Amino acid sequence: MSEPARIPLAIPVVGKEEAANLQKCIDDNFVSSVGPFVTDFETRISALSGAAHGVAMGSGTQALHLALHCLGVGRGDVVALPSFTFIASANAIAHTGARPWLFDIDAESWTMHAGQLAEALREKAERRDGQTFLKDGGERVAAIMPVYTLGTPADMDAIGAIAREYDLPIVADAAAAIGLIYRDRKLGELATLTCYSFNGNKTITCGGGGMVVGDDDALLRRIRHVSTTARVSSNYEHDEVGYNYRMTNLQAAVGCAQVEKLPTFLAAKERARRAYDAAFSGRDDISAFPSPSDRESTNWFSGFVLSNNACVSVEEICSALQARRIEARPFWIPVHMQAPFSDARCEDQQLTESIWRRIVTLPCSTNLTESEQARVIEEVLRILDGAAA
Ligand SMILES: *Cc1c(COP(=O)(O)O)cnc(C)c1O
Repeated sequence: MSEPARIPLAIPVVGKEEAANLQKCIDDNFVSSVGPFVTDFETRISALSGAAHGVAMGSGTQALHLALHCLGVGRGDVVALPSFTFIASANAIAHTGARPWLFDIDAESWTMHAGQLAEALREKAERRDGQTFLKDGGERVAAIMPVYTLGTPADMDAIGAIAREYDLPIVADAAAAIGLIYRDRKLGELATLTCYSFNGNKTITCGGGGMVVGDDDALLRRIRHVSTTARVSSNYEHDEVGYNYRMTNLQAAVGCAQVEKLPTFLAAKERARRAYDAAFSGRDDISAFPSPSDRESTNWFSGFVLSNNACVSVEEICSALQARRIEARPFWIPVHMQAPFSDARCEDQQLTESIWRRIVTLPCSTNLTESEQARVIEEVLRILDGAAA
């Protein structure tokens, strides 16, 4: 019997439209950071975000870094961040010289715990000269960075109210949330700046890439300037320390073809998520990823959470699936457990610490077929039932 085809976790799905755009870059010799696809991609992504402007960059990390940098975040500052995120969110903060101030997530959405943030600010911070400082260390609280985990936005009504009360900018890590509508509002309307990633495992990809979108003309102009070596003329004149962070026309060419497919990709992600949730419902050894009833999600990743009393570990499940040529993986190790951030300020992490080790992510590429997914489900159930027997 021949081996079944390998089913990957989350791979890019690119085709002849991307190839045609890339060929156009070669034909026109626009392969670097100048070219029509960059502008087109910025216009499309900012429009679908409901934002006035977009600045495309080489990665999501670069987008987050320059968003913070251009808001004046730097040494001596802290930025409020959920600990349960991909390490890039914390790295972007550290790149400015600031440190993350780490919060727990809530059980309904796995996004930043707004109640804990409000309470911590009330108890641990004070207002001085229109700014907010921590009472015991003196650091300035410079920004709030919610992360739209799995493509589910944080409780932005509550976080927006906190941001207004303390006059703090919001930089949203929306790496997983492209295309989302939140309570009738588009994504870009929820934060001062919203940052996307177009890495290979995201819903749409440029191979690699990122973008900052927002409405503030002067701020977005500054981000564009600083991302382009802060060049003031074509005669090698620069007015501040800049970065070489711009997206290339080659990346944007892929991105422009991908944007056309976004509705199809989002539908595929949702279909995968629903099929897994339906197949695994009613069991007491696993539960579904959260889906808050008051918010949409882009369902970036699918999978399940192992119950505390399950007879099998995440590692055992992943290696058993791997042996059957199905790629499954654990999820993020929280930032406060990572070596570079072990000394970061950290609030109680009750939910984060209870769930992170129990998450299994399952194949959810946008080209996952129904028969492939049926095979994944069958194998997962076989492993769980075998462990329980
Ligand atoms: C992918 C991702 C990033 C980083 O994006 P890159 O393009 O890989 O730099 C940041 N935050 C989250 C939550 C992500 O999933």
